[in-house]
Amino acid sequence: MINPISNLRFNFSQVHNQQKQTNNTVQNVLTNPIKRPKLPQPTTMMALLYNNIAFTGHREDLVRSIGHVSCPCCGTKMLTNQDMDKVSKDLSKNDSAEHYINTLKPYEEYMHKTEKEVFHRFEKWGKENPKDTISNFLSENRDSSMNICKKKQTEIFEKINTITNGISKEAGEKFANLTSVYSKTPINNEEDMKTIRKYMISDIKTSKSLINNEEKYKELKNLAEDLPTSKNNAEAFIVRYAGEKSEKIGTRLLKLSVGTIEHIKPQADGGKDRVENYLLECGECNHTRGDVSLKDWIEQHPEMKENTQKYFDEVIEKINNNELEHGLDNYPNAVRGALTAQSKGTLTYDTSALKPKETERTQSSKDNDKAEKQDKPQTQQCSHTHKPHKPHKPHHHPHRLNIAA
Ligand SMILES: [Zn+2]
Repeated sequence: MINPISNLRFNFSQVHNQQKQTNNTVQNVLTNPIKRPKLPQPTTMMALLYNNIAFTGHREDLVRSIGHVSCPCCGTKMLTNQDMDKVSKDLSKNDSAEHYINTLKPYEEYMHKTEKEVFHRFEKWGKENPKDTISNFLSENRDSSMNICKKKQTEIFEKINTITNGISKEAGEKFANLTSVYSKTPINNEEDMKTIRKYMISDIKTSKSLINNEEKYKELKNLAEDLPTSKNNAEAFIVRYAGEKSEKIGTRLLKLSVGTIEHIKPQADGGKDRVENYLLECGECNHTRGDVSLKDWIEQHPEMKENTQKYFDEVIEKINNNELEHGLDNYPNAVRGALTAQSKGTLTYDTSALKPKETERTQSSKDNDKAEKQDKPQTQQCSHTHKPHKPHKPHHHPHRLNIAA
C-alpha cells in the first residue's frame, strides 16, 4: 500500500521544490525540520517517555521534589511521578466510566486545555453510561470525530487561501496548490493529520518572503498551528486514542502535566547538570519547546513572564514554610543567572518574599537559638563557628501531598 504522505511529497515536489525533502519518520513529524532540525534533548525526551526510570541524578530529583507548583511556561499546575503512579494504579482497579471519572476528577485542575475538554466529554457521556468503558466511548466516536477534524482542516485551508489571495497573485496560486494537494491527501489517522500540519507550517515559514507582511505571516502561522492534532483538539485526541485501553487514555490526560526538568541553558550549548540550571516545567511545554532558545520562546509565549513569577512565588512559599529540602533554600535566586543570560535579560522576577535562612540570620537571633538549645539534646557541632549547622527540617515527600486538597 502506498503511504499517502510520501505519495503526497512526490506529487508535490514541483510546486514545492524550495523546501528540503524530509523523511516521513515519527521524529520528523514531531520535530520541525526547518527551524529545529535536532531532536529534543535526550533528557527532555527521556524524562517525558520514561519518567519513572531512575537514570537521573539526585540534583534533578531535588528540583522535581518541588512538586505541585505552576508551570513557569504555561501556568498549568504540575503533577509528580508519584501522582501518576497512583492514578495508574487506581484506574487499573476498575474499568467502569463511573470509577474512571471519579479517579480523574481530583486532577482536573492539573489538565491542559485539550485534555480538560476531553475529560468533560467523558464526564458527560459517563453520567449516562456509568457501567460502560471510556475505551468504548472513544471507539464509538472515532468516525464522527475524524469527520469533524477533516471539516476543521478544510475551514483552515479556506482561510489560508483567502489571506494569501489578498497578498499577491503568486502567493494565492502557491497556497491554492498547496491546500488543494493537502485536501486530497487521504487522512487515515491522527499521525496523518500531524504530518499535514507540520508541512503546512513549514510551507508558511519557507514562504515568509513571498508573504512579505509580518502580521499576515503570523496570522497564517497561527492558522496552520491550529490544524488538529491530539494535543490541540479534543476530536483529534479521540481519533488518536480510539482502540487504546481506558487506563492508557486516562494517564494520557495527565501525563503532559507532570513536572519535568528543563535545562535553562541547553546541554547542547554546554548547560550544566546543576540545580542553578534547572527549571521544573510541565512535560507539554518542555517537549514542545525542544531546543528553541529561551529568548525566542518568551517572544512566542509572552505569558511566560507572568507565569515565571507565579512559579517562583509558589516555590518561595514552600521554602518559607520549610516544605522543601535544604538544597533548595536559595533556588529562586540561584537560577537567576542562567535565566537572565538565556533570556537575554527579558525574563525578570522578584524574589524579595524569600525569607533569609539560618546562614543569613543575625547574631542576636543565633544567640537566642543557643539559649533555646540549653533545654534540648545537643546535636553534633563542627569546629568552625562561621558556618553553624542548620536545624534539620522535616523532609518533604511529594507523594504524601494530598493533591485534591
Ligand atoms: Zn507548561
